Amino acid sequence: MTQHAVVIIGGGPTGLMLAGELALAGVDVAIVERRATQELVGSRAGGLHSRTIEVLDQRGIADRFLSEGQVAQVAGFASIRLNISDFPTRHNYGLGLWQNHIERILAGWVGELAVPIYRGREVTGFAQDGAGVDVQLSDGESLRAEYLVGCDGGRSLIRKAAGIEFPGWDPTISNLIAEVEMTEEPKLGIHRNAFGVHSFGRVEYEIRDGEVVFKDVGPVRVMVTEERVGATTEPTLRDLSEALIAVSSVQSRSCVVPGSVVRE
Ligand SMILES: Cc1cc2nc3c(=O)[nH]c(=O)nc-3n(C[C@H](O)[C@H](O)[C@H](O)COP(=O)(O)OP(=O)(O)OC[C@H]3O[C@@H](n4cnc5c(N)ncnc54)[C@H](O)[C@@H]3O)c2cc1C
Repeated sequence: MTQHAVVIIGGGPTGLMLAGELALAGVDVAIVERRATQELVGSRAGGLHSRTIEVLDQRGIADRFLSEGQVAQVAGFASIRLNISDFPTRHNYGLGLWQNHIERILAGWVGELAVPIYRGREVTGFAQDGAGVDVQLSDGESLRAEYLVGCDGGRSLIRKAAGIEFPGWDPTISNLIAEVEMTEEPKLGIHRNAFGVHSFGRVEYEIRDGEVVFKDVGPVRVMVTEERVGATTEPTLRDLSEALIAVSSVQSRSCVVPGSVVRE
């Protein structure tokens, strides 16, 4: 059975960053990732804050991200934009760079550090004993580890199987986020009405004089507040369409990337 000191489940940003840190410390670490490649469905998170760029700088890799993204003043509190350009740091700004690019760059770094990534394999369970953990994979194989780390996302199988709670409060707001083509040209920007906040922006944009200037074409990033919280099923394009009609009478036509409607 293949053995590592640490096995990380999940090769998203958290798992990749942890793997890089452990490899730099000389730890024998490996990642198990169910996605066959680092490709993401949709572009997901929109960038990095100043402190994250500082941490990446401490690891010598900040320039890889800065060279691909666009710097801007993005810090905020309660929807108030904060300008941190006079903060005493080399990175007194945020960076606009979609998560699919962030993951690609992190995966490249982790690859240079020779961290094995077992791709296209899902962890189905694990068994702990006094000396370590046996990790069961979907292909019938197992890995042995001294430590197992669950970086497998918000609905983490590892967390649940380990009996670790995820305490918090019941949600009071539910949003749908999607990348879609629209039948009508939406009014780009952030809007507020009796339903709450909804916004439209294009995936492709430029920062000009500190302002986001969206490209004229390409997929639209939509965020819309749902009328009700507590839905338990995966959101559909129809859910998105109904939510959009409810708040703004604008309709979405087709998903550019199937499955890119998510509920948060
Ligand atoms: C549409 C969208 C927009 C978002 N926008 C923002 C934003 O603007 N700002 C922001 O801060 N955040 C945003 N987020 C959230 C952000 O994407 C997450 O916080 C981030 O991805 C969490 O990283 P992670 O590595 O912890 O988990 P994940 O990215 O979820 O990675 C977990 C990994 O584990 C793998 N995995 C799961 N289970 C198993 C298993 N059993 N075996 C093997 N592998 C497994 C998954 O394939 C995945 O690659 C957005 C998310 C979405 C979906």
